[in-house]
Amino acid sequence: MNSGFENSSVQNGFDALTTSLRKLFGETIYRRWFVQMNGTVSEAADGSKNISLGLPTRFMRDWVESHFGEEIRYAWKNLSNNGQVSFSVVSPLVKAGTAAPKNIESPEVKSSAAPADDFYSGFSTEINPHLTFDNFIVGSANELAYAAAKRAADSDTASFNPLFLCGGVGLGKTHLMQSIAWQIKNKNPEKKIVYLSAEKFMYHFVRALRQKDTMRFKEVFNSIDILIVDDIQFISGKDNTQEEFFHALNTMLSRGKQLVLSADKAPQELDRIEERLKSRLSGGLVIALNPIDFNLRLGILQAKTKKIGIELPEKVLEFLAYKITSNVRELEGALNRIIAYTQLARKTVSLEMAQEVLKDVLRSCEKKITIDEIQKRVAEHYKIKISDMQSARRARAVARPRQVAMYLAKQLTPRSLPEIGRRFGDRDHTTVIHAVRKIEELSSSDTAFKDDVELLLRLLKANISEDLRPEAA
Ligand code: ADP
Ligand code: MG
Repeated sequence: MNSGFENSSVQNGFDALTTSLRKLFGETIYRRWFVQMNGTVSEAADGSKNISLGLPTRFMRDWVESHFGEEIRYAWKNLSNNGQVSFSVVSPLVKAGTAAPKNIESPEVKSSAAPADDFYSGFSTEINPHLTFDNFIVGSANELAYAAAKRAADSDTASFNPLFLCGGVGLGKTHLMQSIAWQIKNKNPEKKIVYLSAEKFMYHFVRALRQKDTMRFKEVFNSIDILIVDDIQFISGKDNTQEEFFHALNTMLSRGKQLVLSADKAPQELDRIEERLKSRLSGGLVIALNPIDFNLRLGILQAKTKKIGIELPEKVLEFLAYKITSNVRELEGALNRIIAYTQLARKTVSLEMAQEVLKDVLRSCEKKITIDEIQKRVAEHYKIKISDMQSARRARAVARPRQVAMYLAKQLTPRSLPEIGRRFGDRDHTTVIHAVRKIEELSSSDTAFKDDVELLLRLLKANISEDLRPEAA
């Protein structure tokens, strides 16, 4: 699950949003603009949750949308699994006029400077000022990525180009990339930084095509100092965009300007991306962000609570760090829930309350391991083809891994022996029994083998992929 409110009442989505707006903009702005706002959440066909925000007057609606729209959309996207935001006038909630503000200071956080050229400014409005190096907690899972990102932000010449960050969702890729943008911006305000998602890249490109203005699009890459493109897996299969992206990369590289890119997988593993683009992408430094361990999770929770200025019992934090292992986004979602609860209940939570508050979050975290996954992991581990899990081949090199997979399927899934057999090339349940016995026997006589099987078991249980290890140092 992706947000901290999905399983609870719809209203919690709006509460979660206002909580984060309050944190983002501070009390004054919050009270002036957001206390009179209401929100209705609806579910789109694709499962994302859209929110319609109502403000009492047209003036307020326009003001909120134009001044805070970007941040609100950003916050909502994070909370709702990419949901959309719309603004409307919902009157009369309050008497018109009482709310009309005068002399409003602009919010202390704004997206990065907007140059006169709207084309260029369109590229750089996605920077979230909270995603900085200072707010990034470093541990063994991400220290390489952190160091490389720092280096890219600090050095005047591009030292490894492109810097490519890869790893699963919620592990800090966007955070690090935005930190780079932010740091460069603070140190050298004159530098032209472009940060955008691959989807935005595509959007700008398609728009340029439509307006017959691709020259101008190409020129951007001749003038900027650093190009940061997030989530480039999104351009898979989009041939025109890939072509243009390839040119943009080449332009930047030949000018010796830093490129920072990210994707959910390493370049070579990206689907439907041209070979020449893949090789460009992996031509610099590829670094993986790994799943975070307990200590890092705890460290992140401690840092976040400290920053917000809220104190939670150490036991509760440890409980969260122990239970929510998937990624930092979910960890944050759970923490926000606890914080919201603390504020509503006006008392600190006990461990029991935390368990209760997070009941549904925890339930969805309990991993269900599938036979497909087991087959995939085991095949990867022993470097055989997945199809060999079902094949009739009896050579030891494939038969043994197949037996290991059957054994693991018995240990880790509630499937019956005949069911397991069927999934392994329609084998009989007696074959599965034989495999289980064989693995038990080998484990008791061969400790190296036993360690190997146990490692697989642990990795599967913890949902840790072996291919998430750093690629290069
Ligand atoms: P990704 O882009 O890899 O999917 P994000 O960078 O969006 O992940 O991270 C998800 C959330 O977790 C963000 O709110 C981010 O600030 C937070 N986060 C991730 N890693 C860390 C870290 N090491 N320290 C602090 N916060 C982190
Ligand atoms: Mg991201």
